[in-house]
Amino acid sequence: MLLYLDDAFAEHETGAHPECPQRILGLNQLLRNSGWLERAVLPHWTSATPEQLMAVHDAAYITDLQHWCEQAVGRIESDTVISHGSWKAALLAAGAAVDATERVMRGQQQTAFCAIRPPGHHAKPSGAMGFCLFNNVAIAAHAALSAGAHRIMIVDWDVHHGNGTQDVFYADGRVGFFSIHRSPFYPGTGSKNETGAGAGLGYISNAPVPAETNLREFVQTFEKGLTALADKTKPELILLSAGFDAHQADPVGSLCLQDEDFAELTRIVKQVAEVHCEGRIVSLLEGGYHLDHMPRSALEHVKALAE
Ligand SMILES: [Zn+2]
Repeated sequence: MLLYLDDAFAEHETGAHPECPQRILGLNQLLRNSGWLERAVLPHWTSATPEQLMAVHDAAYITDLQHWCEQAVGRIESDTVISHGSWKAALLAAGAAVDATERVMRGQQQTAFCAIRPPGHHAKPSGAMGFCLFNNVAIAAHAALSAGAHRIMIVDWDVHHGNGTQDVFYADGRVGFFSIHRSPFYPGTGSKNETGAGAGLGYISNAPVPAETNLREFVQTFEKGLTALADKTKPELILLSAGFDAHQADPVGSLCLQDEDFAELTRIVKQVAEVHCEGRIVSLLEGGYHLDHMPRSALEHVKALAE
């Protein structure tokens, strides 16, 4: 498998904030100590290009964000904070998503995990939202389409609905989007009746689950919804918005999952990927704010992805 990690993601400083540099430093340390760096391929990659960003984001927002980072303006949206180093980190994160997608599409490796921040799935074409600057998974999906793919599927198991990703592909039809998320909860979208529009009708699938959902219900809902949309989409690649904030101990999200449950979810995605796309999965870190359990959950995910 391909593993993307870089301590430079810690240069996106957010002050007293759940989406903090220590998340990525702790995850990188655990991945190093676990022996996984020797077993994975660690590619060198470059920042996302303006063209790759503009496949998803408005040029005016990209220009504004660069300016705001140069000025280190701090809070740019109710939940989103930037520093001088945020621009470099955001470009590197989106660049990792693109590089991993291109390499997996070329058959260099079957799977990839990108240990990146800032996260992406709330970011909209026109602006930042919910700790997210660029929508990394949407940028990756466009990179796959540019590389010749015709049908992509995005799976989002972050505890929050991936509203930004859904917005990008709502009327597209080439990119299926399946999200399981706590509801009612931030950001308030992701109801069952949001199913796409135009060419995208039927290619958006939301599985909102209540806070008191138990593990069995969660896993069954995930597998059923994922399988149904994959059978419809017939993807050539699965992109995964892998948030770990549905962990029971997460200070922001908190559902019913324990560290090892993310291995079970990973195996379900792998089975679907084996059926449709020769096991091709590119996984991107989204949320997950418990400084011990996010790295441990992500390690369970990486192990299962590489099995
Ligand atoms: Zn989240």
